[in-house]
Amino acid sequence: MARADIIMAEQPVDVLIVGAGASGAAAAWSLAETRMRIVCLEQGDWLNPAEYPSTGRDFEERAFGEFSISPNRRARVTDYPVNDDASPIKIANFNGVGGGTILYAGHYPRFHPSDFRVRTLDGVADDWPIDYATLAPYYDENDRVMGVSGLAGDPAYPPKPVQMPPLPLGKAGTTVASGFNAKGWHWWPSDSAIATEPYDGRDRCINLGACLSGCAQGAKASTDITYLPHAMRAGVEVRTRCRVREVTVNDQGMASGVIYLDAAGREHHQPAEVVILAMNGVGTPRILLNSRSSAFPDGLANSSGLVGRNLMFHPYASISGIFAEPQDGYRGPVDCIWSQEFYETNSAHNFLRGYTFEMTRGRGAVATALGGMNSGRIPWGSEHHSAYRELHNRITGMVAICEDLPELHNTVTLDPTLKDPDGIPAPKIDYTLSENSTNMLAHAVARAGEVLQAAGALEIMSEAPLAVGGWHLMGTARMGTDPATSVVNEWGRSHDVKNLFIVDGSIFVTSAGVNPTRTIQALALYVADAMKQRLANLFD
Ligand SMILES: Cc1cc2nc3c(=O)[nH]c(=O)nc-3n(C[C@H](O)[C@H](O)[C@H](O)COP(=O)(O)OP(=O)(O)OC[C@H]3O[C@@H](n4cnc5c(N)ncnc54)[C@H](O)[C@@H]3O)c2cc1C
Ligand code: SF4
Repeated sequence: MARADIIMAEQPVDVLIVGAGASGAAAAWSLAETRMRIVCLEQGDWLNPAEYPSTGRDFEERAFGEFSISPNRRARVTDYPVNDDASPIKIANFNGVGGGTILYAGHYPRFHPSDFRVRTLDGVADDWPIDYATLAPYYDENDRVMGVSGLAGDPAYPPKPVQMPPLPLGKAGTTVASGFNAKGWHWWPSDSAIATEPYDGRDRCINLGACLSGCAQGAKASTDITYLPHAMRAGVEVRTRCRVREVTVNDQGMASGVIYLDAAGREHHQPAEVVILAMNGVGTPRILLNSRSSAFPDGLANSSGLVGRNLMFHPYASISGIFAEPQDGYRGPVDCIWSQEFYETNSAHNFLRGYTFEMTRGRGAVATALGGMNSGRIPWGSEHHSAYRELHNRITGMVAICEDLPELHNTVTLDPTLKDPDGIPAPKIDYTLSENSTNMLAHAVARAGEVLQAAGALEIMSEAPLAVGGWHLMGTARMGTDPATSVVNEWGRSHDVKNLFIVDGSIFVTSAGVNPTRTIQALALYVADAMKQRLANLFD
């Protein structure tokens, strides 16, 4: 249908949240108790877990199509394309209610206290304007809503509560743990946002595997089944198939709402007193840069010039071993143990900061066959079946998730030609791997190889950086106290536009060496709480 020229004006709301993923859902839930009129706009749809790939035998095929982690491959009408040709690490996300949590693995580590102080400790990047102690109560609150399984007492962390027992190690976890034991290196059962007991109306994990294309069991804590049902019962409206094109401003330079396109391509103006952006580390800078006006010619909230800069992924190394004994294959959640032996800076290393090892379970039948064919381990001809059998259910290993330091030249900008189905400019990614990350990856590949060998691996395979691994998107609208060197202040409010807030991974100052979602959500609750405490003078 052709787009209408007339903009449809909606009823004003108090708080408008853009994005119903990990952070938008948490902020909506927290603010709901204020009884303000809150609307959450989401470009995607609600998902129906009964239709997730894991409910059918073709689950592996569907995970490479309509449930692909790559928006470019998935190419749903609810997706936007991303030009990531100039990056060795490709973007992975999901656009729908729940956002990335629909496809995430549910690895759920917290940051370490040191992660907030890397300038002080190591002379790199910058310290955060808040510390671990500030965030700790919000970590706890988020954990209660999402439900975290794990084992208390991990020596790598300050004490932290868990709600449920840890995931079972299974054969693969036991194998990898035996390698860490042989080396005398730290490992611990992972914290996971996966229920191991019935929790808040959700059932427990039944080890089906296929977590990365949606958990039909409801055991994995995606925000469509955790935060949002509670938020909606408290009065929040979630409006789907609403793709925001720009944030509008009034004559006073304050945010006045957003323009969005509905499923039929009709333009709407949604007025709001307060706008909160939660579109992730790529989606948020994209829309800020697309919100140009005479008052903000370089994009909204961009007087520092930092919107879209300092993009951080976590460069990943993937290291697997082939074992003589059968492992778990794809059955079971992806991860059940981690090691933080090499997490903190060590002067003996040729890199600063560090990384976490996270065990990865195994591969499905199709992935085993494709991997075996591509690597030449499975030939055509008479050896074909026996070669396949030597790999089937016999591969397990780990990934290393490396701290990525912020660099100005790693950017999200607007692509000059590529557009989404509604004609909104697509994001363009320019990213180069730093020497620090390259050295860290090499160290991780070597150490993981030692662990897998000690665990009995016959052969070791690795990929670094993992090309598909652009699933952690951080740093493109960083927080800080100085408006010249940050986009939002220490409680998530834009320095330039007083009624504009950001709660997603864009506001990270540094990336730490762990998965970010638990910290993203704790930060969203912290920002929402700051808003509640300062409601009377939000606009001063
Ligand atoms: C395959 C995969 C595995 C992962 N595994 C883990 C893991 O194990 N542990 C972990 O911590 N993290 C993991 N992640 C990352 C995790 O999903 C993200 O960190 C998290 O979802 C980010 O939260 P967010 O709120 O910043 O953004 P998102 O969850 O991405 O939500 C953003 C939402 O905004 C919407 N949106 C964007 N632009 C617009 C627009 N213009 N108009 C309207 N709506 C818009 C999107 O549709 C989306 O729903 C994984 C991600 C993927 C893809
Ligand atoms: S392994 Fe557990 S969390 Fe993963 S999809 Fe199956 S039931 Fe869900």
